[in-house]
Amino acid sequence: MWKVPRRATAIAMTENIALPLYRHSLERPDALALSVNGRELSYRELATLSRRIAGCLQTIARTRRIGILASRSLAACAGILGTAWSGGTYVPLNLKLPQTRLIHLFSTLELDALIVDARGVALLTPEVVAAAPRTILVGDDAHGIPSAEGADIRSFSMLNNQGPEKPADITEDHLAYIEFTSGTTGVPKGVMVPANAVNHYLKVMQDWFCLTPDDRAAETCDITFDLSVHNMFLTWYAGASLHVMNPLQMVAPARFIRDRAITSWLSVPSIIAMMRQNRTLEPGTLPSLRLSFFCGEALPAGTARAWAKAAPNSRVENIYGPTEATIACLRQPVIEPIAITPNREIVAIGRAYPGMAARIVDSALRPLPSGIPGEIALSGAQLARGYFGQPELTAERFPLIEGERWYLTGDLGVEDEDGIFHHLGRLDNQVKVLGNRIELEEIEMHLRAASQSDHVAAVAWPLSDGSAKGIVGFVSGSALDENTIKDDLRQRLPSYMVPSAVHRVGDLPLNGNGKVDRKALLTSLDTGTAAVTENAL
Ligand code: AMP
Repeated sequence: MWKVPRRATAIAMTENIALPLYRHSLERPDALALSVNGRELSYRELATLSRRIAGCLQTIARTRRIGILASRSLAACAGILGTAWSGGTYVPLNLKLPQTRLIHLFSTLELDALIVDARGVALLTPEVVAAAPRTILVGDDAHGIPSAEGADIRSFSMLNNQGPEKPADITEDHLAYIEFTSGTTGVPKGVMVPANAVNHYLKVMQDWFCLTPDDRAAETCDITFDLSVHNMFLTWYAGASLHVMNPLQMVAPARFIRDRAITSWLSVPSIIAMMRQNRTLEPGTLPSLRLSFFCGEALPAGTARAWAKAAPNSRVENIYGPTEATIACLRQPVIEPIAITPNREIVAIGRAYPGMAARIVDSALRPLPSGIPGEIALSGAQLARGYFGQPELTAERFPLIEGERWYLTGDLGVEDEDGIFHHLGRLDNQVKVLGNRIELEEIEMHLRAASQSDHVAAVAWPLSDGSAKGIVGFVSGSALDENTIKDDLRQRLPSYMVPSAVHRVGDLPLNGNGKVDRKALLTSLDTGTAAVTENAL
């Protein structure tokens, strides 16, 4: 009897995000790939280091998730590339996380290894090491490797020379990274981003903007912000060089751009506001730039014009997107006459990338016609897989609409008659504070515990150029003083989420729905009456 041969199920593959680095290391081995903290690495050197890290990670592969407790350093870049090379998923861990939160993340993520730089090493207390994965790789910038019983802690220079010749083959469902962002329930949510989605983004951007090996891109972000993925991986995709800015250089970006002859720039717009304040953004001062992208916050039209004048040889683009749709997926060129959002004086967010779709929906997820505001929903090749370990939240935020998977951004928007999208603010209490995405409810949850009072509120304040500079807390009915509350919050939240002031008030103002009236609280801060109320207690 004939046996019917079993049909092999075809497993779809996708390109490893470290593959362009490998290719350029063969084709142009001596070209500059990375300049960071005074060190310059060619494509050959960066590929060799990534391969060695990958060799170590492959020997311990279990979950294939690797934590990167590092930023703006060689260990961060090589750790990310080595993880990808080994076929793993990198998880950037914020260096501003308090110990308890770091330990909590370790317990949920089940990491295979941790990669740390000098700043990460400083966080390795005995408690952190005890909760961390057994294998910890330390960048060569760190002096004095800590030792701990039961832990296998090695510096990069101790890694042997072996490692997979090429970046690992990966399948279509492979996750490139998991990026943690603030969550309303008090627990941060991990956005799982597939390599496929990153590859789609890179291809679209490269088809449009054609970076070449002569380009010199700046790394303006920490690795916990997904704009860093654009800066790193678009650069290496094109065989160009990446110039990582350290925190000091971030204070004087114009000088950095001029000194390094930077040609490609992507940052949050609040950096432009800072440069305007410092008077370092004068017309014609940034002639080397040919590509300037802004993302992450509303781009005020005046700010965009000032940048365009300072960088007369540059295309300027406002790009829009949440981490859940991989870096950005709508774009609006800043060309006179600028497409401006009525009554907001900000640049429109434009149209969807090829392979992506945007629409405005009502609360029943029905599409709304142009001119009617509603929630911005996104669909297409760049959508994230969802939130790590949170299937219910994933189902809620990534619903199926007419058989298609969409992501509900929580952004209020409108599509105009020309098909251009505009951002009108948020439908919830998510805010951006100096580029960091924060859910105010998350701060309030911890403020409740820290103040031992149920009556609390947090607002983003002060606002300037459409972006918030800090957080202010309010508590009612707490017996604890401000410093005690803030000290407690520092143990629970990353530093950028800790309120700069916590006002103790008699009663919190309520709106018609009986909810805390955040607008009234902001007015009390603007008019200086918040402090007066506190003094009257
Ligand atoms: P993140 O996940 O940190 O990239 O933050 C995503 C959120 O930032 C979006 O949902 C928007 O609220 C905001 N955002 C991103 N890009 C823009 C933009 N170009 N204009 C206005 N808001 C933006």
